[in-house]
Amino acid sequence: MPDQRLNYISGEWCESHTGETFETTDPAIPGDVVATYPESDAEDTERAINAAREASGGWGTTPGPERGRILARTGSLLEERKDELTELLVREEGKTRSEAGGEVQRAIDIFRYYGSKASDIGGTIKSPSARDTKLYTKTEPLGVAGLITPWNYPIAIPAWKIAPALAAGNAVVIKPATLAPGVVHEMASALEEAGLPDGVINVVTGPGSEVGETIAGHEAVDAVSFTGSTAVGNTVYDTATEDGKRVQLEMGGKNPTVVSDTADVDKAARIVASGAFGVTGQACTATSRAIVHEDVYDEFVDAVVDRAAAIEHGHGLDDPSMGPHVSESELESTLEYVDIARDEGATLEYGGSTLDREGYFVEPAVFSGVDSEMRIAQEEVFGPVLAVLPVGDFDEALAVANDVDYGLSASVVTDDHTEANRFAEEIEAGVVKINEKTTGVELHVPFGGVKDSSSETYREQGDAGLDFYSISKTVYDN
Ligand code: NAP
Repeated sequence: MPDQRLNYISGEWCESHTGETFETTDPAIPGDVVATYPESDAEDTERAINAAREASGGWGTTPGPERGRILARTGSLLEERKDELTELLVREEGKTRSEAGGEVQRAIDIFRYYGSKASDIGGTIKSPSARDTKLYTKTEPLGVAGLITPWNYPIAIPAWKIAPALAAGNAVVIKPATLAPGVVHEMASALEEAGLPDGVINVVTGPGSEVGETIAGHEAVDAVSFTGSTAVGNTVYDTATEDGKRVQLEMGGKNPTVVSDTADVDKAARIVASGAFGVTGQACTATSRAIVHEDVYDEFVDAVVDRAAAIEHGHGLDDPSMGPHVSESELESTLEYVDIARDEGATLEYGGSTLDREGYFVEPAVFSGVDSEMRIAQEEVFGPVLAVLPVGDFDEALAVANDVDYGLSASVVTDDHTEANRFAEEIEAGVVKINEKTTGVELHVPFGGVKDSSSETYREQGDAGLDFYSISKTVYDN
């Protein structure tokens, strides 16, 4: 019997007024229904926004230490339920048990981190020019934060929006992705149990075109934080900025790893394979281009193919090295890119076929002979497909790395310090890694991209994550 899950509005678990529901299924066993959710519409969403608006005043004036205690308690409750959350995440999204467990741990850590930060939010006393003036800054919440999140990190991304929004004193309406909303319900339930007042967090499930658009366009929402594809992010931006909302966008990537002729090739192949094929390539920071010096190119392609061939597929709960795609349409999209790359003249060195078993499984694919003009080198695939591009020197490697519309994460594998420094200086990306994979970020430093990967104005995580949800007043008190 699948779980029957509900919206959470004004402290109550409730159905959609439409009475409609939708199902989530296990991507490794598509016949298995995991849970049903309310198929909400604009009216349900508006109710949630109004509830948040009503609760925002009280929460905004709740002392920071009390807000912090509730967030920290939420972290502990999530920790108590870590195994349950991990299994739910695996069954809806398809990650392996290790990957999902790591993601749940990240969410726990985020609640603790922002729980500890909440007491320090307030402002600062400044030295005035006039002796009898008291001069200080005062940090205040924005009011209502509308959060729209993707399926690929269904608990970590909502956590890195919810926790700073609440720490800063905002009320929240969140629309989790339709493919994997369950862990957000569990988070709301932990917040409820930790003592969060009614209406401060509201969860509404349903189609993005209905629930997401209502959040983006509603006048009672003060700020919208969106993570998802660039195409949808741009429409959210247009809608949300019509009435001057603050908007944060985290979107797609086409992340490169440059492999220098000074690199240890085996180490480079390990770094690239892990960045490209981890979480089935379904990460915004996944490595999708390896830009490799021609002197080590053939050796690198062989080494990365060996790593791709060693991958074992299976149900995430059995903790294989790779789980399935999240859905049939995501699998189809990856297969289409495999065909596109072949048609463009790239050489398929390994993989790219579906497996002879149920579920949305595909072998990781490695293409050599890729040119920067090809679609496989320009467009986000969002699956385990690696394009390997040959280059003649480091200048060309940098030019090719920057020759895309995206700019999220980028890495270089090199033994040359000058190359490493040049890469950090000249690469167009929000996250730069030296001798590391493009995936994986720390929670206490800013995260975001440039170009079409981000709105650039506001970063997530760390102190930057709090800035988006806060406004600063400067007070001259004479
Ligand atoms: P998506 O299709 O853009 O959806 C993201 C969210 O937006 C979902 O909740 C979706 O709802 C909702 N949505 C859809 N149409 C909408 C509309 N017209 N108005 C408002 N909201 C709408 O992205 P996805 O497939 O879930 O996630 C994969 C994408 O996210 C990739 O491009 C990846 O690179 C990107 N991503 C970026 C980051 C980052 O930090 N830069 C992190 C993770 C993922 P439904 O689920 O109901 O469609």
